[in-house]
Amino acid sequence: MKKKINLLIIASILGLIALSIIQGYLINNTYKLKKDVFVTETKRSISQIDDFSPKLDSLSDFWQENFINKVVDYKFGAADKTEVINSLKFVIDSINDTYKSEYQKALAENNIPYGIKFHKKVKAIIITDSIATDTLFNILKTSKNIVLGNRISEENSIGISTTNWETEHTSTRNINGENKSVAFILTFQTKDEMDIEGWKHIVLKQMSSLLLLSLFIFALVIGLLYYSIKSLITQKKIADIKTDFVNNITHELKTPLATLTLATKMLKNDELKQQPQHINNTVSTIERQNKRLQKLIDQVMDNSLGYREIELNKESVNTEDYINTVLDDFLLSVKSKKVNLTRNFSVVQQSIHIDKFYITTAILNILENAVKYSGDEVNIRCDIKSDSELKISIMDDGVGISQTNLKQIFDKFYRAGNKEIHNVKGLGLGLYYTNQIIKAHNGKIEVKSKEHKGSTFILTLPFK
Ligand code: ADP
Repeated sequence: MKKKINLLIIASILGLIALSIIQGYLINNTYKLKKDVFVTETKRSISQIDDFSPKLDSLSDFWQENFINKVVDYKFGAADKTEVINSLKFVIDSINDTYKSEYQKALAENNIPYGIKFHKKVKAIIITDSIATDTLFNILKTSKNIVLGNRISEENSIGISTTNWETEHTSTRNINGENKSVAFILTFQTKDEMDIEGWKHIVLKQMSSLLLLSLFIFALVIGLLYYSIKSLITQKKIADIKTDFVNNITHELKTPLATLTLATKMLKNDELKQQPQHINNTVSTIERQNKRLQKLIDQVMDNSLGYREIELNKESVNTEDYINTVLDDFLLSVKSKKVNLTRNFSVVQQSIHIDKFYITTAILNILENAVKYSGDEVNIRCDIKSDSELKISIMDDGVGISQTNLKQIFDKFYRAGNKEIHNVKGLGLGLYYTNQIIKAHNGKIEVKSKEHKGSTFILTLPFK
């Protein structure tokens, strides 16, 4: 059964993990899809901003014209490549602030509700004439970017499009009294890129209902699974406890019943019927066993009471006198083992308001356990202290209780499955009942224990 439950738990957890992976995969796909749609829509909205803003248009014309003049210088040998590129950078830098602010204005006019950074990045500048193709700039061969607009880091940039500005140009100049002409095709390749500020946030916001619903369903499934497994384990524990209880009570009933069977047989024996002394002995045996059975039934009935069902009959007692009497009576009742009992009183408040009958039962249950769950000889130490409450601590040097069992010893019918105490009789009701009695007095019971070292039970009771 335990194996089955473990298998079930493992299978459920694996199922849950698989489900989470699938769910995560689907959410990730939806996220990508939403992002793509969002980016495409944004691209569409801003793709024509350049064309619709006359100011941006005139800025473009300005740097393009300026640049062509510099290329003409280059073709006439009046400037080298570096100078051409530096001049391009210079012009772009000089108009960049205006370009950026005009771009933002254009965005606002187009009613785009989120922040966008935009730039044109120069990819390549190639001059072709009738003789050769000359590359002035290639982004792949340089570490410095030429950028018009906002600089956007590589990881945030979203590509919009690649634009080719191609223009044919002819120019004539008088050099040293001679008219010289140049003709070339300029290919200027740029990449338009953007960064949508907080796009992750925007996309996630669009997905918020889906995310919340998935999270809720996920939490619900985990909750239900946890609840089902917990109930299953509790059911299993209850079933085990019931089986143990049936075994224990059967064991307890066996001896008196066997003796009663034997006694009845004896009474039927014709020879023995003639001996009155023998009949008397047998009848008292039957009486004793009957009492034992009755006590067993009473124990099950009474000790099963919950603290709310316990009706207290409180009276004021002198703490020290009362506890001394309980301990003395206990010592007189133990015959099976040698018990060394020490008591230490440190009591300030002299009287306590308790139900003597019930508290005696509670203290005796703990003392009897100290004797039951120990070797041939047991040392018991009782420390009785009082300040704002009364604390009765009962320490033994018996077999002790393991940490796992410690949590359950106050449960109804619970008995620790310790090999050392296998032959000790009991129904697992004593500590349950003791706890209920203390609870009914608004007190508490604590236990500390170490296996093979001994246990300490501490009863705390309010004075009133
Ligand atoms: P029972 O003694 O009938 O089994 P109890 O409710 O009195 O039932 O105790 C529950 C379990 O707690 C016991 O079965 C025993 O394993 C453990 N226990 C209680 N008192 C002690 C003790 N002083 N030392 C070691 N084990 C103890």
